[in-house]
Amino acid sequence: MRDETKCLHAGYTPGNAQPRVMPIVQSITYTYDSAEEIAKVFDDPTLSLVYSRFGNPTVMAVEEKIAQLEGGVAAMCTSSGQAANLLAVLNICGAGDHIVSLGAIYGGTTNLFSVTLKRLGITTTFVSQDDSDESIEAAFTPRTRLVFGETIANPAMAVLDIERFARIAHKHGVPLMVDNTFATPIFCKPISFGADIVVHSTSKYMDGHAVQIGGVIVDGGTFDWTNGKYPELTEPDESYHGISYTKAYGKAAYITRARMNLMRDFGVYPAAHSAFLLNLGLETLPVRMRQYSQNGLAVAKYLEANPKVLSVKYPALPSDKDYPLAQKYLTGCCAVISFVIDGGREKAMKFLDALRLASNEVHVADIRTCILHPASSTHRQCTDEQLKAAGISEGLVRLSVGLENVEDIISDLQQAFDQI
Ligand SMILES: *Cc1c(COP(=O)(O)O)cnc(C)c1O
Repeated sequence: MRDETKCLHAGYTPGNAQPRVMPIVQSITYTYDSAEEIAKVFDDPTLSLVYSRFGNPTVMAVEEKIAQLEGGVAAMCTSSGQAANLLAVLNICGAGDHIVSLGAIYGGTTNLFSVTLKRLGITTTFVSQDDSDESIEAAFTPRTRLVFGETIANPAMAVLDIERFARIAHKHGVPLMVDNTFATPIFCKPISFGADIVVHSTSKYMDGHAVQIGGVIVDGGTFDWTNGKYPELTEPDESYHGISYTKAYGKAAYITRARMNLMRDFGVYPAAHSAFLLNLGLETLPVRMRQYSQNGLAVAKYLEANPKVLSVKYPALPSDKDYPLAQKYLTGCCAVISFVIDGGREKAMKFLDALRLASNEVHVADIRTCILHPASSTHRQCTDEQLKAAGISEGLVRLSVGLENVEDIISDLQQAFDQI
């Protein structure tokens, strides 16, 4: 099946006289015919359903669909994108371990890595794609356990050189973990370029309608965990009657442990109803992404030609620094555009207030056009120096182009520019 077909059919095949649509299985638990049957399930919980804190048929249908879209062996949904990143890391990192991460990533993930995980004893060294291989490799320590980056960074809109970072990670015996939220598997399949683990905030384009928070971890099944660095996957798990995940589950060792150990203990599994809504979004994902790509490029070109705009960051623009990487890794671009308005904070805020169609909100990838002025909102507490370090100028605006008619979106922007 190709992507459009997978989005509609993967993960659920109804039998004779069964519901056409995957039903919402609104049940915490599952019944068994005998104590003996339950005992068998506890011997190998992957064989059947146990408890909806770590497995539910509606959620699992979506997991299978996303795993197939990304070309992975299996996936596990989480209750948010943040929960996906947290579990994806904790599955192979403990106190004393270390992460090498691209610096240009989502602010919530930067915070998770540099503040919260640090308190748990997991440290991170941030590197830049502009650094040489030697200086990136100098960031590795004997305790480095993974390399992390985003296919299209939120909000920097930089495109990750996936093959390069996969090569560096593998040279040091660790997997490359890629957050593919902005590209979605419709525009990029990181596993096909050498990534080993893919994570998403499904709250963005996958859901698409701004109705439910969610995340997912996809296991590529590509990484060899038996190099001595990952005893949690190779050695007996005391909390699971001495199972070795690599021995028992082979290519699905990583994702099986994430579910059977971490999801069991942390319980950040989505509700069946959330998965049902996510599935509705996934069904139309390819159609929506193609339209986002068209609308995004049209608006980016309009902004680039606008004399009141100092700069535009959108990797599908031929003038963009990341255009060659976008050509290599992406078959289309999402519709988030960062641009700088001439006149700083005052003009930028006035511009936002003048918009009639685009709404002011802390979200991106909504089906409706939305906009945010980071310096006065998400980065409000930052000093001028901190803003500069984060690459956020006072006039920077983050626009998430929606699926309205693009002429209406541009007219709205134009009338707002006319007012400043
Ligand atoms: C939004 C986002 C997250 C966090 O996801 P939530 O679903 O909001 O928890 C993580 N990574 C990226 C790239 C994001 O855009």
